[in-house]
Amino acid sequence: MAELLYGKEIAEKIKNSLKQQITNLKDKYDCVPALCAVQVGENPASSVYLRAQQKNADNLGINYKLHTLDAGIDEKKLIDFILNLNADDKVNGIILQLPLPASLDAKKIISFFDPIKDVEGMHPENLGKIILDKAHLAPCTACAAIEILNSTGIDFYGKEAVVVGHSEIVGKPLALMLLNKFATTTVCHIATGERGLLQKHVETAEILIVAVGKANLISGSWVREGAIVVDIGINRLGDKLVGDVEFDGAQKKAAYITPVPGGVGPVTVAILMRNLVEAAKLQLFKRDGKRKR
Ligand code: NAP
Repeated sequence: MAELLYGKEIAEKIKNSLKQQITNLKDKYDCVPALCAVQVGENPASSVYLRAQQKNADNLGINYKLHTLDAGIDEKKLIDFILNLNADDKVNGIILQLPLPASLDAKKIISFFDPIKDVEGMHPENLGKIILDKAHLAPCTACAAIEILNSTGIDFYGKEAVVVGHSEIVGKPLALMLLNKFATTTVCHIATGERGLLQKHVETAEILIVAVGKANLISGSWVREGAIVVDIGINRLGDKLVGDVEFDGAQKKAAYITPVPGGVGPVTVAILMRNLVEAAKLQLFKRDGKRKR
């Protein structure tokens, strides 16, 4: 029976390690890290994530401000808003809450972020640095999956890793991170499923990470004996939240598995806070020409 990988415990460790760093920033550099979330119109789907951001920021002594802009804002005004946040020394991190209204192109807007304020790691410069294994700010959910895997003490070298889902903010960066750790990494996507080859790949996985958003896409019987399973998917099934992996079956075969909810989600928010602290240090470094620790 698999051991459950609860995100809360891993998140607490990350946040505890941030407390001292935040105190140092305040005491030595008069810097209280500040995070600005920008949402365009009200989106009920974002409210859980926004509440978690606010709560985590409050607990860590981070300044948090949510800007809710008019749903009809045009591209130029939104870009000007972002440029003002870039120029504001009191703002260390910017989040653009997705999805945006259909008239706005999220990738284009994010490309106007100052890369050292891009705490969700979605600017092209930050995504590109993952290839070089030099990213200071990388996508939070991909980093969260790596932290969860690290918590098991796994040695990645030569392991068969399978990532299901190739989105630009989760699956692709995660696959590169695994590759950087010398895992033999396979990426499955919609075409893999359409050719009927998903099961074949999943069965090889010593490390299985699924980020698709389809309830029970992965049958528990496909999971390799002793695998580590990180289920990133979140799906509403009736009144329950479930992942992409059929949990009961997978739990019988895996060595470790994340529950949904309570697995990846809390770690993602802790990584966001870690990225903010890193961003604040990068900005002090840029300003003063020396690294602040
Ligand atoms: P996304 O952008 O919709 O990407 C889903 C990926 O799954 C795409 O690459 C898609 O391929 C692929 N896919 C679709 N059907 C498939 C199939 N039958 N077989 C194999 N691959 C298939 O979603 P995302 O932003 O990566 O998020 C994925 C899930 O993770 C969602 O449930 C989301 O809610 C959850 N999530 C959780 C957290 C957290 O903190 N817990 C954070 C972020 C996301 P194509 O693009 O080729 O169709």
